[in-house]
Amino acid sequence: MTYQYWDPQIEKMQRGDLEALQLQKLKTEIGYSLRTPFYKERLSKCGINSPDDIKTLNDLNRIPFTTKSDLRDGFPYGFLSIPKDDVIRLHSSSGTTGTPTVIYFNRDDIKNWASFMARCIYGTGCTKNDVFQNMITYGLFTGGLGFHQGGEEVGMLVIPAGAGNTARQFKMMQDYGTTVLHATPSFLLHLETKMKEAGVERESLSIKKAFGGAEPYSEDTRKRIETLLKVDVYNSYGLSEMNGPGVAFECQCKDGLHIWEDGYIAEIVNPDTLEPVKEGESGELVLTILCRETTPLLRYRTRDLTSFYTEPCACGRTHRKLRRITGRSDDMLIINGVNVFPSQIEEVIMAMKEVGNNYLIVVEKDGALDRLTVKTEVNANTFMDDSRLLNALKDKIKEMLKVSISINPKVELHESGSLPISEGKAVRVKDTRPKDI
Ligand code: ADP
Ligand code: ZN
Repeated sequence: MTYQYWDPQIEKMQRGDLEALQLQKLKTEIGYSLRTPFYKERLSKCGINSPDDIKTLNDLNRIPFTTKSDLRDGFPYGFLSIPKDDVIRLHSSSGTTGTPTVIYFNRDDIKNWASFMARCIYGTGCTKNDVFQNMITYGLFTGGLGFHQGGEEVGMLVIPAGAGNTARQFKMMQDYGTTVLHATPSFLLHLETKMKEAGVERESLSIKKAFGGAEPYSEDTRKRIETLLKVDVYNSYGLSEMNGPGVAFECQCKDGLHIWEDGYIAEIVNPDTLEPVKEGESGELVLTILCRETTPLLRYRTRDLTSFYTEPCACGRTHRKLRRITGRSDDMLIINGVNVFPSQIEEVIMAMKEVGNNYLIVVEKDGALDRLTVKTEVNANTFMDDSRLLNALKDKIKEMLKVSISINPKVELHESGSLPISEGKAVRVKDTRPKDI
């Protein structure tokens, strides 16, 4: 395979040089941080009062972690490092897990972000000849504008399609000869369901690639999208606190996401002890941003669970790779005392070809106990009126889930395209149990 690099010098930099660059950039970020009310106080408590107090990358360990709740406490201007008049944009998180958090940008920050995004997009083999339909929410959510700027930087024709409205999406794909898509994986699956319903012929479309991100998905979900839509799917990872998309992305090898280490220092820690995990082990990703002046963030706990690859990538990039993010440490459901991650359920059901493109996990109270129901759509080719076949499928799903999660769930089968689909990130879990306050 011939690989293409947006910035070969940086992407294939020797590790020693990359670490030297990180140190230099970290010192700069410490300088920015000392101008924010939050870090001025926090850093002086650990004896850091100037960038020169950082001598090696290990000095980062002296700094406590920053959490989402710190960001909320600092809302709205506690993390701002420049006068408000010099800020040109803000974005905020989609608020999946509570009050949103806000990030500010100046002109250079936006430029840096666009160039990291261009690096991601170009690294999958896209060129200026591509037509890129960005089917994700624009606005405060970073996925829309982040990809938009990156696509323009590459020189692609970018269609700011936004999320939803599959009929309009198909029309645009046909009218403009779209070759590349970006959407949540759940929307890509939904698109396939709708394509059949709308009678759109795959041959009438020119799509070749799709970027899928913003929510966790399994390898089987990727394969399913690739088979059904006949496109190559690349995993895209980011979070609004770290600009948004553009933090880590798959290269043409489609096996793990390169995290851009000239833009971010990545650590993986055990979420309970906060100690670094052993090489290659899974834990919570902690990130320090090296490419933004306006809102510096040091050792930010992403709550996302992943691990580093230990082997180098065939593409020749030296920036380390992350494994597919399996979920957030706070996604974990405790059902009758047993820990279950929604991703474990997705892994089982999406690997079954009889199962359709959408599912929902429901957790309820049933007397003193918790009850787990897994609702899945069936493949459009399965006859909903053949009860013998449906019961056999139900039993098969139940059995496989039991083996994987050690819980006996209730399984409900639904017709293809009938479970609710959300415009933004998929809502996969409905937990109606009363919360302990
Ligand atoms: P919110 O935290 O409100 O959802 P963001 O839009 O910042 O707001 O979402 C970022 C989060 O989305 C990440 O921290 C991660 O949990 C999830 N995410 C983003 N991309 C991926 C991906 N490729 N795989 C798994 N999870 C992802
Ligand atoms: Zn690679």
